[in-house]
Amino acid sequence: MKEMPYKTYLEESEMPKAWYNVRADMKKKPAPLLNPKTLKPITKEELSSVFCEKLAEQEIDEDNAWFDIPDAVLDFYKMYRPAPLVRARFLEKALGTPAKIFYKFEGNNTSGSHKLNSAIAQLYYAKEQGLKGVTTETGAGQWGTAVSMAGAFFGLDTEVFMVKCSYEQKPFRREVMRTYGAKVTASPSMTTEIGRNINEKYPGTSGSLGCAISEAVEAAASKEGYRYVLGSVLNQVLLHQSIIGLETQSALKKLGVKADVIIGCAGGGSNLGGLISPFMGEKLRGEADYRFIAVEPASCPSLTRGTYAYDFCDTGCICPLQKMYTLGSSFIPSASHSGGLRYHGMSSILSELYDQKLMEAVSVTQTEVFEAATLFARTEGTLPAPESSHAIRIAIKEALRCKEQNSPETIVFGLTGTGYFDMYAYQAFHDGRMQDYIPTDEELAEPIKRLPVING
Ligand SMILES: *Cc1c(COP(=O)(O)O)cnc(C)c1O
Repeated sequence: MKEMPYKTYLEESEMPKAWYNVRADMKKKPAPLLNPKTLKPITKEELSSVFCEKLAEQEIDEDNAWFDIPDAVLDFYKMYRPAPLVRARFLEKALGTPAKIFYKFEGNNTSGSHKLNSAIAQLYYAKEQGLKGVTTETGAGQWGTAVSMAGAFFGLDTEVFMVKCSYEQKPFRREVMRTYGAKVTASPSMTTEIGRNINEKYPGTSGSLGCAISEAVEAAASKEGYRYVLGSVLNQVLLHQSIIGLETQSALKKLGVKADVIIGCAGGGSNLGGLISPFMGEKLRGEADYRFIAVEPASCPSLTRGTYAYDFCDTGCICPLQKMYTLGSSFIPSASHSGGLRYHGMSSILSELYDQKLMEAVSVTQTEVFEAATLFARTEGTLPAPESSHAIRIAIKEALRCKEQNSPETIVFGLTGTGYFDMYAYQAFHDGRMQDYIPTDEELAEPIKRLPVING
């Protein structure tokens, strides 16, 4: 019998030609986005003042299952995709599990994560619309890097508001962005009204993602020919990220393997949503069954301890209201080392799937995550991003359950990126200085009291 390959690549010609919109197969759809002023479902026209037109269209379309990937985007994808589906044989061996473990590796590009999949799509539509440039925010820096790369490719201006603590802690991330031509500003800044207000109210603040979003939206709105782009949470981002799941689905088919458990880390939900969408589609249509597991940090547990309600996506309360599992837009998570997972809310698609019990969620602490990251690096060779290592932790847990139950299941998880810019985090772990912070019920109750009144 032929051995199963270590890595499975699709041929270029086998790459998906269209993105998949899982909302089309959901019987009960996610609740609509609301205009923050009128509290009525937001229209495409209203959304188009913030986002590019085509992206506004994708954002509210819950009926069309497939969107053609534009040729220019497909060509760009070919520079770093298809991404490999890797069999984690050495990890399996170290665990002594009868389970097969696969991971879909999205760290094969300079930005170091899956975020480039959506950045290139969003910048393409901005270019097509004849815009001059885009503004955005970045927390840990992966999204800002991805937008800078995509902006350079299409010759568009990019202005990135980088959360101040990252701006100071990750100077190399900042310089990568500047290499691609981006203007990088520490947030809160003095260049926007919201930034000045926050600086006045909280002198010396190290910033937050919600605040940087507000600044970027304001900066886009105040300049002719600019729009705002966002790297997670939104429906359009999950749509673009479906390329991850579609490739995974084709690669598994090629191997003749069916997944049983599919796992991903969840910040705003884009990589997990993208990975599971095509499989969730099969489940929703009654063609196959899977277990889906979202893994979030115990320090920012929006699914496992949040409230399902309408909330703002940003601190400045200018973005549309979205119904989602949220900790409240005024919740400021503790300074964790997984910057990409420090967001108060969750994609409305994933929130609805979770609410319908079609997906599970668990939370894990930082030290557990770095134990898993270290084992993974030592067995599989790849240095994982802290965010991705949340998924590794639960993949290992599932594999050990399979060992206990002598159950040869197939586990697939998303390895969203590499950890080269996260060595301070690894250092804290190695030196035994890493702390686990789990918010108390009282701390979580406060921001929930400040949810918008629309929730009744
Ligand atoms: C941003 C990021 C995440 C989390 O974002 P999602 O939108 O939840 O996917 C996970 N891993 C990496 C490497 C990231 O950069």
